[in-house]
Amino acid sequence: MVMMNMQTNKPTLHPLRFCAVILLLAVLLSAGCAAPELSAEARSVTVFAMDTVMDLTVYGGDDDLLTEAENMIHFLETEFSVTDPESDLSRLNAAGDFSVGPDTKSLLASALALSDRTDGAFDCTIYPVLRAWGFTSGEYRVPAEDELAALLPLVNWRKVTVSGERVTVGEGQMLDFGAIAKGYTGDRLISLFREAGAASALVNLGGNVQLLGKKPDGSLWNVAVADPFGNGYAGVLKTADCAVITSGGYERYFEEDGKIYRHILDPKTGIPADNGLSSVTVVGERGIVCDALSTALYVMGAERAEAFWRGSDDFEIILLTEDGQIILSEGLEDSFAPSGEWRDAPITVIRDD
Ligand code: AMP
Ligand code: MG
Repeated sequence: MVMMNMQTNKPTLHPLRFCAVILLLAVLLSAGCAAPELSAEARSVTVFAMDTVMDLTVYGGDDDLLTEAENMIHFLETEFSVTDPESDLSRLNAAGDFSVGPDTKSLLASALALSDRTDGAFDCTIYPVLRAWGFTSGEYRVPAEDELAALLPLVNWRKVTVSGERVTVGEGQMLDFGAIAKGYTGDRLISLFREAGAASALVNLGGNVQLLGKKPDGSLWNVAVADPFGNGYAGVLKTADCAVITSGGYERYFEEDGKIYRHILDPKTGIPADNGLSSVTVVGERGIVCDALSTALYVMGAERAEAFWRGSDDFEIILLTEDGQIILSEGLEDSFAPSGEWRDAPITVIRDD
């Protein structure tokens, strides 16, 4: 989806388009909820956290709801940040053995289950390798082969053990929640809004869109899927009450000696995944699941991603390939409309048979 956290020191791939895409998404989403009776009840706030711009809009609930939501975001950021030495996660990474708070415990339980479910295409123990590439600090470099070979054995979620609040990682292991923290946060925000009695809400965490209910006028929301190659969007999804989460190599990358290195790594090799996909959008009920799976399916490539979708029943997918094709799972056949440069792209619908 739309990215806000791109950190590249090579502006050659049109970094300004990111702002345009965000603006476009905002316009599209707000245009989608512009029925006159809505304006009186709509409350919105923009928050910068987790290295991204977050826009929250809620219809209903009391006056303090958005303040509560904002506080929740900042609290979760201080729990999950891998660069803040005071965060729950950093303290676990530094000590290797640490009693974590309830949110870290809950997120980690899902992260380990999703690492298992994807057979490590998503692996929450990727941090040592990610750090070697500089993707967490912005000090990008291409690690030497022997350096990667030495770090790879540390990437293995099976070595992490949890006993009550106590989390123990294997010798030298460190965790990274970059691929799921926003999905978890989105789930918490949607629950907060639902429990406060709001009927409709839209949470856009830097392009990770999560929706509560339909628009207040009873129609579906319009969610833009970013064009991984350009300024605009590749299409619009009409949907409600779900998470729409995209992973793409275009969100963060660097270039060295004419080669582009993207931020989603294949945990089996330690090098950026390069399997012919330019973005993966996962649509489903749970943000944390969609967030982990969008990253994992990007690593898998189209063929394995399709097989994985056939073996699952809790999400739908939109795959945009590097060579300009659209692959849709059948549940989205009637709700996704390609647009812009993708309007005439060949579409393959994958079915569960
Ligand atoms: P997303 O944008 O949700 O796909 O998350 C990408 C982020 O997840 C990266 O910036 C890294 O912090 C982290 N990451 C990269 N590759 C992986 C992987 N294979 N498994 C888990 N986390 C990853
Ligand atoms: Mg993700």
